[in-house]
Amino acid sequence: MRATDPVRGGGTAGDLAVLDERVAACRACSRLVAWREEVARVRRPAFASWEYWGRPVPGFGPADARMLVIGLAPAAHGGNRTGRMFTGDRSGDVLYAALHAVGLASRPTATSRDDGLVLRGVRVTSPVHCAPPANKPTPAERDACRPWLLNELRLLRPHLRSVVVLGGFGWQAALPALAAAGWDVPRPRPAFGHGVRVDLGGLGLFGCYHVSQRNTFTGLLTPDMLLDVLRAARDAAGLPG
Ligand code: SF4
Repeated sequence: MRATDPVRGGGTAGDLAVLDERVAACRACSRLVAWREEVARVRRPAFASWEYWGRPVPGFGPADARMLVIGLAPAAHGGNRTGRMFTGDRSGDVLYAALHAVGLASRPTATSRDDGLVLRGVRVTSPVHCAPPANKPTPAERDACRPWLLNELRLLRPHLRSVVVLGGFGWQAALPALAAAGWDVPRPRPAFGHGVRVDLGGLGLFGCYHVSQRNTFTGLLTPDMLLDVLRAARDAAGLPG
């Protein structure tokens, strides 16, 4: 087993930058490795001039983040193309515009890893780091990737005060990782819902519908609904607006 296997690498990285490097080199899930590399090879015509990232996408944001946003998985032509979470896709357009509006991002758009975007006190990650076919990782892939999330949470724990989970898939993945990282997660486990807020003993856990096009185009998640959750989580983290 190598350091870039999630079980070993996720359990031993003592530094977030090291963890991010190891995540980006992971090849544990054969189906996702094949898919992410195939997408990177074939590309979408609109991005034909891009050299796709085509690897796992690590978390993005400062190592001393007080707030964490947990999504689902990178988009095939978004994060899998640009190499940064929620960067270069419609979901990211919504998320970063909202983070900017509540004072947590230096700019409202995210287009590439060198676009100058800086996150203030917040980090963005996902429970599955490789783009999955149809945006649907399998439970086995979610579980295989969990050690990366667990170690990320352990490294963030000294500063972390709030977590926003986007969608039920992320919620199901995050709760066991939060419990394993040492937070007091109630039993039975709290159910996901938009606007749900759970106190995990010093950590505010917030549920929010995912910023996917399906939710934002249909109005299931409106900009105001997203802003309300982000503001509450920002305030719970003690971050300035
Ligand atoms: Fe590794 Fe996670 Fe990607 Fe699977 S989904 S290959 S565990 S980074």
